[in-house]
Amino acid sequence: ARQFFVGGNFKMNGNIKTIKDIVNNLNNAKLDPNTEVVIAPPSIYLLLAREHLREGLEVASQNVFDKPNGAFTGEISVDQLKESGITWAILGHSERRVILQEDDTFIANKTRAAVEGGLGVILCCGESLEQREAGKTIEVVTRQLQAVAEKVKDWSKIVVAYEPIWAIGTGKVATTEQAQEVHAAIRNWLKSSVSAEAAEKTRILYGGSVTEKNCGELAKQPDIDGFLVGGASLKPAFVDIINAKQ
Ligand code: 13P
Repeated sequence: ARQFFVGGNFKMNGNIKTIKDIVNNLNNAKLDPNTEVVIAPPSIYLLLAREHLREGLEVASQNVFDKPNGAFTGEISVDQLKESGITWAILGHSERRVILQEDDTFIANKTRAAVEGGLGVILCCGESLEQREAGKTIEVVTRQLQAVAEKVKDWSKIVVAYEPIWAIGTGKVATTEQAQEVHAAIRNWLKSSVSAEAAEKTRILYGGSVTEKNCGELAKQPDIDGFLVGGASLKPAFVDIINAKQ
């Protein structure tokens, strides 16, 4: 069985006080011991979160660069994260694809550097509303993942997050059927393009307007192995999403 996984993507939100409050809330909460929990604060708060967060809960960067060191202003390396106890990175998020114009190849290069350096990667994919309405959802998602498969053969440190862009921050969550359908297609793609083992073992998370109210039904779907949570990860109800399987 795949271990349930819940990530909190804080995006560009929070300050020293609110990050400490969120961490303390998690430290004191009764969390399902079967759920793997990872929080991703803005980079300036990564160390703060790591220093305060209790053991067993992990911290992710919202990005990482593909070069080991050097003249790359504004970037952070895999080793710099690892030295600070940051064990995961989110890559391929639609906000970075759309707003920062990251392409499939760049995301694949960063995923390769992260995985080879020993970081876990939450690899995001997802279609726009226009692409969904044109019937291109599966094509878009598998194209995004294929770029990574061409450079990374070992998917044991990758968790895939399916995040339809039209569901992110909109309050418009995908239906359980819509999410399950894409998750199953991703698992099929893993089987044919990576390996049968990757298809069986890779966690596929859903992201996009997940709340404590809708997480229970989604968590029951056979191919939904957890969530990547934005807005709701900043609130105390994040604990209920971590415990969605209970
Ligand atoms: P929301 O949960 O705020 O819709 O954001 C989802 C997301 O983008 C997580 O990475």
